[in-house]
Amino acid sequence: MSRMTTWRTRAQIGLRDPKAISTNINPVNGVACHYGGSGPFKRSSHADCEAILRGWQNYHMSPDNKNNYNDIAYNLAVCHHDIIMECRSTQTRPKIRGGANGNAIVNGNRYSIVCIWGANDGAAPLALKRAWLAARAFLRSKGGAGSGMNCHRDMASTSCPGDPLCSWVKAGTPMPVPTPTPIPKPVYKPPPFPTGIRPNDSSPCAVTLQRALKKKGYMASSISENCNYGPQTQKAVAKFHNANPQFKSVGVSYDPRIGPKGWYHLFMEAYGGAR
Ligand SMILES: [Zn+2]
Ligand SMILES: [Zn+2]
Repeated sequence: MSRMTTWRTRAQIGLRDPKAISTNINPVNGVACHYGGSGPFKRSSHADCEAILRGWQNYHMSPDNKNNYNDIAYNLAVCHHDIIMECRSTQTRPKIRGGANGNAIVNGNRYSIVCIWGANDGAAPLALKRAWLAARAFLRSKGGAGSGMNCHRDMASTSCPGDPLCSWVKAGTPMPVPTPTPIPKPVYKPPPFPTGIRPNDSSPCAVTLQRALKKKGYMASSISENCNYGPQTQKAVAKFHNANPQFKSVGVSYDPRIGPKGWYHLFMEAYGGAR
């Protein structure tokens, strides 16, 4: 299963322009995980995820907000629709300082990725985690983020991003390994019965028969193979018939001649896993 996380730009989301932009970040400590709070923030339609994000931006940039944010505080947002939404970091300017992690130190040494998810939304779905990891990968490759990951609550007095997400981050963001589809074994089909094969004749050639008889131990492997259906081959076929009397000619105790049904059974036993 290969899926691609979708990317939404600020313009697509309809975020307002920032009041100011700071590139003063040295993200050696990687990224921090956030969520929206108590919630619920799980929406069936993605358009509603973006409405939530615009609401968060408005809240952060409000003149009444004591932090006096220049923009939505996060670097990127992700949702359970497996979508990354640009916030302060964009495709064209990934390396931008965020404001969500806490004090000046933790905002200066790591990025923030917020999940549009809340405490009342329960366990985080795989698609949300996939988007979060894709957002982190973007900030690592384009924004120079270090390999570290932590939770908002490691840096400030908050429950953010909640137990399900934080324990996932602490465990190293494990994702289920897809179970490989087993490759079906080819079904064995015995070679067609060579019409006319019979004792003391060499056409059709008896070598294929001799190999099957050897494979099942009816014929010693030391006996040399030969197109001729000779005494050794006959003895081995009779042995096969004694072990599988249902293929033997009726009323015969020593039957050296293989028939189509016996042939089929012998080859299934020898190469097809039959008993
Ligand atoms: Zn947070
Ligand atoms: Zn969404």
